[in-house]
Amino acid sequence: MQSGMIRPLANMLPRNLFNAEHEAFRETVRKFYAKEVVPNTAKYEQQQHVDRDLWNKAGAMGLLCATMPEQYGGSGVDRLYSMILIEEQAYAMDSSTGFSLHSDIVANYIFNFGNEQQKQQWLPRMASGEVVTAIAMTEPGTGSDLQAVRTTAVAEGDEYVINGSKIFITNGYLCDMAIVVCKTGSSDKGSANLSLIMVEADRCGFSKGKPLNKIGMKGQDTCELFFENVRVPKENLLGMEGMGFMMLMKELAWERMLVAIICQAGAEAAFAHTVQYTKQRQAFGKLISAFQNTRFKLAELRTEIDFCRVYLDRCMQLQLTENLGIDAAAAAKYKISEMFSKVVDECLQLHGGYGYMMEYPIARAYIDNRANRIYAGTNEIMKELISRSL
Ligand SMILES: Cc1cc2nc3c(=O)[nH]c(=O)nc-3n(C[C@H](O)[C@H](O)[C@H](O)COP(=O)(O)OP(=O)(O)OC[C@H]3O[C@@H](n4cnc5c(N)ncnc54)[C@H](O)[C@@H]3O)c2cc1C
Repeated sequence: MQSGMIRPLANMLPRNLFNAEHEAFRETVRKFYAKEVVPNTAKYEQQQHVDRDLWNKAGAMGLLCATMPEQYGGSGVDRLYSMILIEEQAYAMDSSTGFSLHSDIVANYIFNFGNEQQKQQWLPRMASGEVVTAIAMTEPGTGSDLQAVRTTAVAEGDEYVINGSKIFITNGYLCDMAIVVCKTGSSDKGSANLSLIMVEADRCGFSKGKPLNKIGMKGQDTCELFFENVRVPKENLLGMEGMGFMMLMKELAWERMLVAIICQAGAEAAFAHTVQYTKQRQAFGKLISAFQNTRFKLAELRTEIDFCRVYLDRCMQLQLTENLGIDAAAAAKYKISEMFSKVVDECLQLHGGYGYMMEYPIARAYIDNRANRIYAGTNEIMKELISRSL
């Protein structure tokens, strides 16, 4: 049996994004995953969510909302720190922690579109892990077609009254607050009808389903949320009424980059495990790594991984200067998630029957990976976005 923690192979194409401070942070994250997460994987998978206090531990180590300014509890660092956190999660072969969605998506919505009072109210507590957050867009009846959401928020005096339900919500079970995509208008232009409303989990009428029974990512908290006449003050509106779709579009490019980063690092981890395995296992009196088929397969995979790495790191540079286009981010998500699927499938094959056994990291990678082509916009939607830019 192999342990989950691994590094990408040293002889992959060198990268040039990170400085010494980034590398020191990487070391901190690596230790956190080795000590706090990897030993508890079986427990998280059994209960279908991480322990609540893992969030506080991550907060205490400065791993949550690190890119937020210090005045809001963060460290004011660049998004390469987010990249490192996600990469180390992937190198640990962990799919239980939902930190990135909280720190790199929800926090950005509040920071970019919230007023000062909302930022003060939520961001420091998100950074410490006191508050866990989710973003609730998808509904049982609609996912890709966001403009068709049916959860309504009707204005009544100083309040909104929310009715509807959401499904497949990451961090949903443990969340203390969710940003909920609601329909607040009925204009012909569907995109003008959506608003983002922050709903605290202890509001009367807000309830959560049990964590959903997924085929993979078993330790990640994913559930349904229900809203029955939930009353929230109008101050909980994020940005302006009817601007929800525009706000979602702004942040979705970065959300797609997050998935591309997971997939790239996941492919590197799967590849490293496989090279290691084929150098230990024998058949017909030879190491598996000595067969020409194995060597050619590994050469093909290494080439694909390196090519995607260059594209992704270039996109990351563009992201840092806020020059990354929606189409390029969509291409990164589409291509790198497809690449990861191919890599993990070929790598499992090179493990033979052991690759089908859950105690081997490659088996978990195989099933956990599948969702990457679906969430943050399916790969078909990514192709729509790319084609629109032509
Ligand atoms: C593990 C997991 C975590 C998730 N976390 C979250 C979360 O935190 N918050 C959240 O809001 N959602 C979340 N989701 C939901 C996810 O974003 C949606 O599942 C996804 O957007 C697809 O929506 P859908 O499931 O309704 O599929 P549908 O939209 O019904 O799509 C079904 C099929 O039709 C295709 N299709 C749809 N429209 C088109 C088109 N125009 N052209 C071509 N093909 C099309 C799709 O590509 C897909 O193959 C999560 C999902 C999973 C699996």
